[in-house]
Amino acid sequence: MSVQYEAVIGLEVHAQLLTHTKIFCGCSTAFGASPNTNVCPTCLGLPGALPVLNAKAVEYAVRTALSLGCRIREHSVFARKNYFYPDLPKGYQISQYDEPFSEAGVLEITTTNRAGEVVTKRAGITRVHMEEDAGKNMHDKGDFSVVDLNRAGTPLVEIVGDPDLRSGEEAAEYLKTLREILVFLGVNDGNLEEGSFRCDANVSIRPVGTTKFGTRVELKNINSFKFVKDALAYEIRRQESVLESGGSLVQETRGWDDKAGKTFSLRSKEEAHDYRYFPDPDLPPLVLSAEYVARVRNDLPELPSEKRARFVEKYKLTPYASNVLTQHPKVAVFFEETGKAHGDYTKVANFVQSEVLRDVTTRGLEASFPVTPTQVADLLTLVDKGDISGKQAKELYAKMVGTERSPSDLMLELGMQQVTDVGAIEAVCVRLIEANPKQAEQLRQGKANIMGFFVGQVMKETKGSANPQIVNDCIKRLLKLG
Ligand SMILES: [Zn+2]
Repeated sequence: MSVQYEAVIGLEVHAQLLTHTKIFCGCSTAFGASPNTNVCPTCLGLPGALPVLNAKAVEYAVRTALSLGCRIREHSVFARKNYFYPDLPKGYQISQYDEPFSEAGVLEITTTNRAGEVVTKRAGITRVHMEEDAGKNMHDKGDFSVVDLNRAGTPLVEIVGDPDLRSGEEAAEYLKTLREILVFLGVNDGNLEEGSFRCDANVSIRPVGTTKFGTRVELKNINSFKFVKDALAYEIRRQESVLESGGSLVQETRGWDDKAGKTFSLRSKEEAHDYRYFPDPDLPPLVLSAEYVARVRNDLPELPSEKRARFVEKYKLTPYASNVLTQHPKVAVFFEETGKAHGDYTKVANFVQSEVLRDVTTRGLEASFPVTPTQVADLLTLVDKGDISGKQAKELYAKMVGTERSPSDLMLELGMQQVTDVGAIEAVCVRLIEANPKQAEQLRQGKANIMGFFVGQVMKETKGSANPQIVNDCIKRLLKLG
């Protein structure tokens, strides 16, 4: 009988903090500036230049750690991680090593257990620490490789997860949940494509039922949720087949080739001692007082899971609707503002989901909406008053997109107002009943589905402008139905 293996996966996430300036100097962190324009002696590593820690970066990092339930250490140390690479002008990266500012947190994810049930899993967070980003090498400039140091010194948090994940699906779920938290905290834009949210994965396998770790492979820079799932699934299968064929695994760093659908060896893995870590003599230890931590904790915004629970509780939304409406912080704000302006949160939730979200685009923390909350609230009020039908509301919405026009003005202009004049509707109904005696008789005898025929005919005659409820009532009254 062949051995059953289980995967052991831990993720390391690097997230750029959304400060305006770099972590140890005043240079701008704006994306897209001309190469090497956002630089100064400090981030270029010129002799004699000294680093000064960015207070906003510390606040964002502490916010992140607190949201992940980490313990904040009062005393932490910045260390130099020494290695040589052209994108690292100082010859070392300032990071935190054996004394990070936080440790021992947890991330709750939704996953499926072996029995196929949806369960909540608590994945441990080893630590969150601060460090600086490197520059960017570019190898597509003809015969040369060039380096852009605008990104060098951008503040990062590294979020190191415990090896608690067991599949590519769990890893992808962990990343989605983490990304969402950072975006709701306003500390990171969650942009995987531009590299402001990056992930490396450590993966090994071991026989089910054992606790000893197998030989670990590090997968580098898997920059989409799909790649994470695919790369891990491939890597787990690869490791299994090596062991099953009697081979042994080597500790190494591998990359993911999405076109080939394979991981490939990049280099044998460095050990920590290869980096010759030591405390940075230019930076004093970071001291975070209990008062400071309490203040940051007090100012924490509502987390996505809390928001979801509140939407269900307070507005009686379904968990599904609550999920959809909290997919982005700005979407949640739009929903709540519209609900407040209109009053019926269920109606608003339905309309926002079915119509508005289709036209919403998000980019990082920003989102653009085709209409305003007031427009949607006013539109739904027209339906409430019977001025337009639900179907007409959708047509009117389509005309309203991008116009900033008031829905009632547009309704009048387009001649969309529903006929609610009972006398006018009754006249049409009387005529139709006379013209269709056979159907009228069937309806009288209890063939309820014939009602649809009459309502349809009235709608046809009135070009869809009659209020269907009034039509219904009118026909019942004329035929003396219950
Ligand atoms: Zn600088």
